[in-house]
Amino acid sequence: MSVNQQAHTGPPYGQPQPGYPGYQQPAYGGQPLPGVPQSQYGAYNGPMPGYQQPAPPQGYFPSLGFPSKGSPVSLNSDTSSLAPNFIGSLRAPPTPGAPPPASGASLPSGHVAYSQFGHGDVQNGIPASAAPMQRPPASQPFLPGSALTPVSQTSTFQQYGPPPASVQQLSNHMTGMTIGSTTASGPPPAGLGYGPPTSVPPVSGSFSATGSGLYTPYTASQGPPPTSMSQGLPLAQPPFPGQPISTQRLPTQVPGFAPPPSSTGIGPSSYPPTTGAPRPPTMPGPPLPGQAVAGPPTSQPNHVSSPPPPSTMAGPHPGPPMSGLHGPPPPTHPPQPGYQMQQNGSFGQVRGPQPNYGGAYPGTPNYGSQPGPPPPPKRLDPDSIPSPIQVIEDDRSNRGSEPFVTGVRGQVPPLVTTNFLVKDQGNASPRYIRCTSYNIPCTSDMAKQSQVPLAAVIKPLATLPPEETLPYLVDHGESGPVRCNRCKAYMCPFMQFIEGGRRFQCCFCSCVTEVPPHYFQHLDHTGKRVDFYDRPELSLGSYEFLATVDYCKNNKFPSPPAFIFMIDVSYNAVKSGLVRLICEELKSLLDYLPREGNMEESAIRVGFVTYNKVLHFYNVKSSLAQPQMMVVSDVADMFVPLLDGFLVNVNESRTVIASLLDQIPEMFADTRETETVFAPVIQAGLEALKAAECAGKLFIFHTSLPIAEAPGKLKNRDDKKLINTDKEKTLFQPQTSFYNNLAKDCVAQGCCVDLFLFPNQYLDVATLGVVTYQTGGSIYKYAYFQLETDQDRFLNDLRRDVQKEVGFDAVMRVRTSTGIRATDFFGAFYMSNTTDVEMAGLDCDKTITVEFKHDDKLSEDSGALLQCALLYTSCAGQRRLRIHNLSLNCCTQLADLYRNCETDTLINYLAKYAYRGVLGSPVKTVRDALINQCAQILACYRKNCASPSSAGQLILPECMKLLPVYLNCVLKSDVLQPGPEVTTDDRAYIRQLVTSMDVAETNVFFYPRLLPLTKADVDSDALPAAIRNSEERLSKGDIYLLENGLNIFVWVGVNVQQGLIQNLFGVSSFSQISNTLSTLPVLENPFSKKVRSVVDMLQVQRSRYMKLIIVKQEDKLEMLFKHFLVEDKSLSGGASYVDFLCHMHKEIRQLLS
Ligand SMILES: [Zn+2]
Repeated sequence: MSVNQQAHTGPPYGQPQPGYPGYQQPAYGGQPLPGVPQSQYGAYNGPMPGYQQPAPPQGYFPSLGFPSKGSPVSLNSDTSSLAPNFIGSLRAPPTPGAPPPASGASLPSGHVAYSQFGHGDVQNGIPASAAPMQRPPASQPFLPGSALTPVSQTSTFQQYGPPPASVQQLSNHMTGMTIGSTTASGPPPAGLGYGPPTSVPPVSGSFSATGSGLYTPYTASQGPPPTSMSQGLPLAQPPFPGQPISTQRLPTQVPGFAPPPSSTGIGPSSYPPTTGAPRPPTMPGPPLPGQAVAGPPTSQPNHVSSPPPPSTMAGPHPGPPMSGLHGPPPPTHPPQPGYQMQQNGSFGQVRGPQPNYGGAYPGTPNYGSQPGPPPPPKRLDPDSIPSPIQVIEDDRSNRGSEPFVTGVRGQVPPLVTTNFLVKDQGNASPRYIRCTSYNIPCTSDMAKQSQVPLAAVIKPLATLPPEETLPYLVDHGESGPVRCNRCKAYMCPFMQFIEGGRRFQCCFCSCVTEVPPHYFQHLDHTGKRVDFYDRPELSLGSYEFLATVDYCKNNKFPSPPAFIFMIDVSYNAVKSGLVRLICEELKSLLDYLPREGNMEESAIRVGFVTYNKVLHFYNVKSSLAQPQMMVVSDVADMFVPLLDGFLVNVNESRTVIASLLDQIPEMFADTRETETVFAPVIQAGLEALKAAECAGKLFIFHTSLPIAEAPGKLKNRDDKKLINTDKEKTLFQPQTSFYNNLAKDCVAQGCCVDLFLFPNQYLDVATLGVVTYQTGGSIYKYAYFQLETDQDRFLNDLRRDVQKEVGFDAVMRVRTSTGIRATDFFGAFYMSNTTDVEMAGLDCDKTITVEFKHDDKLSEDSGALLQCALLYTSCAGQRRLRIHNLSLNCCTQLADLYRNCETDTLINYLAKYAYRGVLGSPVKTVRDALINQCAQILACYRKNCASPSSAGQLILPECMKLLPVYLNCVLKSDVLQPGPEVTTDDRAYIRQLVTSMDVAETNVFFYPRLLPLTKADVDSDALPAAIRNSEERLSKGDIYLLENGLNIFVWVGVNVQQGLIQNLFGVSSFSQISNTLSTLPVLENPFSKKVRSVVDMLQVQRSRYMKLIIVKQEDKLEMLFKHFLVEDKSLSGGASYVDFLCHMHKEIRQLLS
């Protein structure tokens, strides 16, 4: 039975409607709201270029001096003892520190642990100095009568039929992909080439078997994994021993290295044919002798497997014999023509070498998409192997037109690259949760056999497109949300009401709970509550509850959060113009702090600190004529020298703030101070939030390695010689545990730290980022910051970061139905126990990847359920619970698992797993483990699901046919295989960045989007069709754009028509194009407009403003650009897609033999 096939006579929830007034929809400052004039700042994901500096607000007066000489020292009693630290005159040198007052030093710093929502039973005893926060205007009580008329939908969510997999989809999924590949090579010399198969980890989703114990899970609460764990590991082989490449790239077939005869393991007799599995008509027959994929060229030592394998196939396939396994059901439709056509005639076919393709790298570029005359040497045709572009385009055309309706259990959503609308009918939107598979094996044996990790990528506060409805806010009054008595799961569409509605049975733990009297409702003849459609928590996948005081720290409703801006005013920051830029920007940006709903102004208070070796606090109380500065030079024991007047309302203190921001750049204009502190800055912000009893965010603008004498002082320990040694992992680990402890304190207070870095040299991102990372914050990095080229990017990032939706003091718990449980978590957060993910701040871009493991059998009938509950404080100080529910299918056939996988999500998980792995293991071990796991995933499919065929053919599951190409991109990424130009800080930065990425972001980050601009239709809004990331796809007569979420490259071929160059760059020839442009010139012609609109469109889609880099063909910057042509062999030794596919095939065959 399919829920979404029923006639839906009532208005769907998915559309705003006047008749549904009972629910308040949370909205945020950046979101366009009806009746609220659009700010000049677009919505936080709105078009950045539309931003204009607003005129100074009314009441803004230029500063008359700072602080005015006659201004009284309006210190309150708590801080009056600080008089020696008060600087009464401009630019007076800081007075060395007076002892901190006892009152400031005695602020409590305990970690408030609330391990379980709804039990705010841990008190930290902060004295109440602020008035208790009134609960902000809550949503209107729910009025059933006025709500949506129940619709005549008869389906229930308790009774699942089989998902109505469309026949087309079915056949598509089951189309085994066969590649009779043809790259041949000489036998690998001993010790090189591909080693024997490594032992196969039996544990699902874990790399640990190849080096058991090596992958110490790195949780935020731990310090870096003990280095001793690596003892006994083989030393990583140097990855680039520098063998000549080109001459061995196209070896001729060596007969002795043909594929081994099919082992009994894959013979048709052992593995029943997949009855009727459609074979692409283009599939070649048994491979020609020359088509066997043999060992890859020896020139890729980076593929050398880890230590020799003790075991055989016993490891990888411990599961029971799959005697009863049947292949996929016969399709009733022919395989999809679109895909077939693309592959038609080219699968396994051989064509001549591409010009330059197999050549030495770097070689003389030979552009042009036309292959040369086909000479005899055989190699795998790049056009015959699975194309990411084709898969993306197919999904767009097949699934982009219909809304994705979430009423059916276990549906695989469209790809992240497809634009589609979502209608919530009982399961969370894929914008909130995506899974590696929507069909979970019933037993852990099956899961281990497949090696497919079971993981969900959760983005709890994801931004929705304007056409979709934000989660409704449900207020159950003082009694709070209805929950299961035992497991505390929240009321959701999958709870089953029994006994006439007086009790309900929990869908997660089966416990029966009484329905509270105020929540009672009768059931209809199908057993469904008659108010089913009136209540979001009964009929929708995502909704919010207003939390009661029980869900608040110290049983007190929270105060609105605060933002504290902390600006490095050391020499470099001042000299580069950064300090002035930040201050100018803040003057206007402060008017765009996040607001809730229709609130006229933001509830967020702001404070200001500047620092170098000492810290300067500012009193910006509205009653002051001029701001006042207080210097704390005793950074060893940080305290906040003023309580009253430090955190203020922007509107009330507007003139004082404006005056301060005018004066800061002047005050430090002549500074000679080059040294900075860092940890005391965070401590200061933390103490200020503690004193104000609120959560909040620190925006720290920082330029250098903090070498000044202070807690958290760092030394320069950068050492690129550690790359490819056992000690490489130390480059990713913090150099001191000081910051881990500080992070813990910050999380306890709800103090989130966002870090804007402007380094001119190594500043140890791995250490400086610890607090940011563990508090759910963001790091932005602008190396060699230059005002002219980088200010747009920085300001756009800052604007978005300040305005975006964010929840504070957040705790996330993922509950699951019996049989599976969440076992591992990846992302920017802190965990003090094994279940609760704590985030001082969680913004709309942050993603948490959760891995699940079996702890019992699952049943096909009941499926599996996830419930993600996020408790957080909104930007107005309202305590809320956001609930996302997702129901998945369970299967007893491996084929069903492979048919319902999502490779993009799998890659998101694998990248995060690997990027955490480098903290504890040599990078080579991590890379080998990745390859090994994916080979097992594909080998299991081949063995159990694919129709029998020659071992010479590589057969990939339809849903995973891009796994090899994407995996190769992860392996070649800067973290796992850095090129010579990649700095240690870059790697640490990328590592942390990827860990919080959602699926769309990892997709484009690892496989960038390459668009031929000269093919764009200037009369259409559409983007030009993307092409594959390979140099051979580039034509020297065209201009291309490549984006990966961090950078946009515009590549200009040497033969581009002069008219196009004139139109785009405003210069008359190729040689006159400046490669230092950071924006495209604004020219009034259709081509210029089109290209700029493409760039703008891409900028809006990404969570960070991308850096624009102009690359001229054959210019030195081109090497940087080529790094992103990920299907090619990389300079750092990364394999080309073709070579890697051959290598994967080899690995798979070894597993199967
Ligand atoms: Zn329960």
